[in-house]
Amino acid sequence: MPACRVTPTCALEVVAAVDILVAENIQFAVRGGGHTSWAGAANIGSNGVTIDLSAMNEVVVANNNATVAVGGGARWIDVYNVLVQQDLMVCGGRVAPVGVGGLTTGGGKCFFSSTTGFAADGVAQFEVCSTVCVRLASLTLMLCTPARHKYRTHP
Ligand SMILES: Cc1cc2nc3c(=O)[nH]c(=O)nc-3n(C[C@H](O)[C@H](O)[C@H](O)COP(=O)(O)OP(=O)(O)OC[C@H]3O[C@@H](n4cnc5c(N)ncnc54)[C@H](O)[C@@H]3O)c2cc1C
Repeated sequence: MPACRVTPTCALEVVAAVDILVAENIQFAVRGGGHTSWAGAANIGSNGVTIDLSAMNEVVVANNNATVAVGGGARWIDVYNVLVQQDLMVCGGRVAPVGVGGLTTGGGKCFFSSTTGFAADGVAQFEVCSTVCVRLASLTLMLCTPARHKYRTHP
């Protein structure tokens, strides 16, 4: 069990939490969907803090239906429930309760992977909160796109 659990509701609250934890030199873990099946994968012991993203599970389809904005704590079932209403689909987890954050940052194999690549290949933009950007006074969140950052996994 962590000493404390923080449940931010937006990216800037994540930034604020990380800012404090880094300044105080406190170890922390990040929990997305919480679906990794071994202890400690997304949690930390009694000396640390768990940042639980489960309250950040919003799913918003863009007006042109080409992209969807997904909160860092959403599970794939949250995404699919919204997309099927608009006859849309995305390369995501093959089991509904798996988290979008953990699967995508790990690459992400999906039912469409033979034609679309990994889930990470379909990411248009990540909002990244790192200790580096927290320390840049004017930049609280770094926006990473394939054009500017080499995070794509599929040629
Ligand atoms: C039943 C089952 C079915 C699965 N099916 C598939 C599948 O079809 N395809 C596939 O590729 N994988 C699959 N997996 C593996 C799964 O993708 C990984 O276990 C993944 O890490 C789970 O993500 P999560 O967010 O639920 O996990 P968590 O346990 O919450 O997090 C896992 C890791 O990701 C980090 N993390 C999570 N969210 C974020 C975030 N928003 N920002 C930064 N870091 C974050 C955590 O800190 C932790 O290190 C499956 C696993 C299970 C148990």
